[in-house]
Amino acid sequence: MLIDSYGRTIDYLRISVTDRCNLRCVYCTPEEGVDLLNHADVLSYEEMLDFSRTAVELGIKSIRLTGGEPLVRRDFVGFVERLAAIPGLEDVSLTTNAVLLEEFAEPLYRAGVRRVNIGIDTLNQSAFKQITRRDEAARAITGIHQAIDVGMKPVKLNVVVMRGVNDDFAPFVALARELPVYIRFIEYMPVSNGLKNEFFVAGAEILERLGTFGELEAAPAPAGSGPSRKYWRFADSLGAFGQISAMTEHFCPECSRLRLTADGKLRVCLFCDAEIDVKPALRPVFDRIKTAELIELAVASKPEKYSLDGRAANGRTMGQIGG
Ligand code: SAM
Ligand code: SF4
Repeated sequence: MLIDSYGRTIDYLRISVTDRCNLRCVYCTPEEGVDLLNHADVLSYEEMLDFSRTAVELGIKSIRLTGGEPLVRRDFVGFVERLAAIPGLEDVSLTTNAVLLEEFAEPLYRAGVRRVNIGIDTLNQSAFKQITRRDEAARAITGIHQAIDVGMKPVKLNVVVMRGVNDDFAPFVALARELPVYIRFIEYMPVSNGLKNEFFVAGAEILERLGTFGELEAAPAPAGSGPSRKYWRFADSLGAFGQISAMTEHFCPECSRLRLTADGKLRVCLFCDAEIDVKPALRPVFDRIKTAELIELAVASKPEKYSLDGRAANGRTMGQIGG
C-alpha cells in the first residue's frame, strides 16, 4: 500500500495521455492553444503501461485517463485494452469532452472503461461555442447519449460554472429529469489562463439556486465519487447533482491521488509546482526499481494541503495537467 506522510492511502492515479485537445475551453486553454509537447517528449503507451504496472504493484487500484482530450490520441482504445488487463487494477475510467464519444464509447466499453466523466458546461449551442471556442455542442450531446446507451455507469457531467455565462441551471435540471446522469457543478479554479473573479460562483450559491427548481433530497453517491461526495436529486429525476468546491471547501484530507502528465512528470498535487520526472526511469530502458522509488518519493512528498495564490501552476494549463 502507498501511504503518504499524513496517513492517506494513495490508490488513485490520473494519467494525462496527451496535451492535445479538439476544444479550447476559456478556463483551460488559451485561444491560440499552448506550445504542444514534441512527440518525442510524450510518453509512449508502452511507457505508460510500464509505469502503470509498477504503480498497481505498489497499491494503485484505480486509473483515470484524461488529457488534453484523451480521445484524440491515436490508438487510444488499444491502449485502454492493455491497461485494463493489468492484474490488480480494479478500475479504469475516463474524462473526456465527449465530442468523439459517438465513435468511441462502444469500443471503449468493450476495452474495459465502465465509468466516464464528461466535461460539458452548457447544453446551449451558442454558449458552448463561446466557452469552448468550437462549434461542437451537437456532437458532445450525442456523445453523452452514446455513453449511456452503451452501458457506461455512472456517467458524470462536469460543469464548470461561470457567472453570466452558463449559470442558468434550468437545462441541466431538465436533463437530469430525463437521463441517469450525475451532474457535478464545479467551482472555477484559477489555475491557468485566469478568468476574472467576477465569473466565480461558490458551491453554496449553486446549491441554493438548484433548490429553487424543487425540493432537493439526498441521493446516493455513485461509484468513484471522488471530491464530490454529496449528491442531491429531485423526487422525479433520474439523475442527480453533485458539487466540486475546490475553492471553498478543502478536500485535501481525503486526497488519494497522483497525477502523471503526458511528458512523464508525476505531480503530487493539482495546485503544487512540485513535479517528479519519471521519464529517466522509463526510457531508454524501463527500470522497475527506479520507477517504484520515484512513485514512493512522490507519495512521500505529497503536501498536507494545497495553497492557492492564484498563480499558474508551474506554467502549465489545466489541459496540460489533466484536471
Ligand atoms: N478534455 C477532457 C475534459 O474536458 O473533460 C479532459 C481534460 S480536462 C483538463 C478535465 C476537467 O478539468 C474538465 O472536465 C474541466 O471540468 C476541468 N477543468 C479544466 N480547467 C478548469 C478550471 N480552471 N477550473 C475548474 N475545472 C477545470
Ligand atoms: Fe480541452 Fe478539456 Fe481543456 Fe476543454 S477542459 S480545453 S475539452 S482539455
